[in-house]
Amino acid sequence: MKNLYTFPIISLLTDGKFHSGVAIAKQFNVSRATVWNALQHAETLGITIFSVRGRGYKLPQALTLLNAQAVLAAMGEDCNDVKVEVHDHLASTNSYLMQNLSTHSHATCVAANLQTSGRGRRGRAWHAGLGASLTFSLLWRFQCGASALSGLSLAVGVALAQTLHSFGITQAKLKWPNDVLIGKEKLAGILIELQGDMEGPSTAVIGIGINLNLPENIKQQIDQPATDLASVSSQKINPNELLAVLLKHLLILLRDFEQNGFAHLRKEWMQHHAYHLQAVRMLMPDGREVCGEVKGVAEDGSLLVETIAGLQRFLSGEISLRGLT
Ligand code: ATP
Repeated sequence: MKNLYTFPIISLLTDGKFHSGVAIAKQFNVSRATVWNALQHAETLGITIFSVRGRGYKLPQALTLLNAQAVLAAMGEDCNDVKVEVHDHLASTNSYLMQNLSTHSHATCVAANLQTSGRGRRGRAWHAGLGASLTFSLLWRFQCGASALSGLSLAVGVALAQTLHSFGITQAKLKWPNDVLIGKEKLAGILIELQGDMEGPSTAVIGIGINLNLPENIKQQIDQPATDLASVSSQKINPNELLAVLLKHLLILLRDFEQNGFAHLRKEWMQHHAYHLQAVRMLMPDGREVCGEVKGVAEDGSLLVETIAGLQRFLSGEISLRGLT
């Protein structure tokens, strides 16, 4: 169901202040019932809106919405190398791009102010909320085949680490193969989906979710420790600037990856490695757990772990990694 007024009204409420139903109705030249319907629709999308008799409507707090022009302006000269499409809400930015590959060109970024059914790996959910998360996907067409893209999520992790460092979040570390951690808490995740032949060419949809400011109700839905930028950064980070800087880093890293493969980025990835030389548990698809010490990653992006069976190599589709302590 669509409601034409929901997001225009939400955008009025992003100042975090009360707006009376009469004033909103006047502004959009609609009835108060239309305003009420639009805000009911927002609630069905999971957006919390406070409604107080005599004062009107307000969001729990002020927030900045994503805006394609603001992202492109913050990218400077690099803005010519990407297309940015911002949606009010989407079920999943990855699903949207995967379903619309033929109508979207190379280096298109699709972002959603609200992602309602975000996905993790193997059917797991990625929880997000309006103003709570930056969620977007980048479409990248590779000449090479899917078989050469095994280190891609690690290369994307390097771009994320570089971006977070540039915003002063130097404690951000990478957990193989696709997460960003602060200490033991998850700040961001990467989901890469591929289409094409093993031998090439192939198309990657690179999905990224970064927690900006998670409200308690979203935190409670996440079944592992999670954190957000509001908790770890001393400055207030504007999501448009964050997306712009991240896209700039991604452009550089993805071109480098295309030319030189992950081998070229391996050293840098290791500098950000969360579990380097630490004891870990690996959860196998068949439910088994294998313990060992992480020795690092190989040039193809696979994980190297010293186990009782000797040095073993794991591919990213196979296992989930967990710290022991
Ligand atoms: P793996 O090590 O296999 O990547 P994972 O648990 O990190 O395991 P992902 O598929 O990468 O799995 O991500 C999905 C998981 O992330 C969810 O099952 C949930 O535990 C967690 N999660 C969901 N939403 C968020 C969020 N906004 N912030 C942090 N973690 C989240």
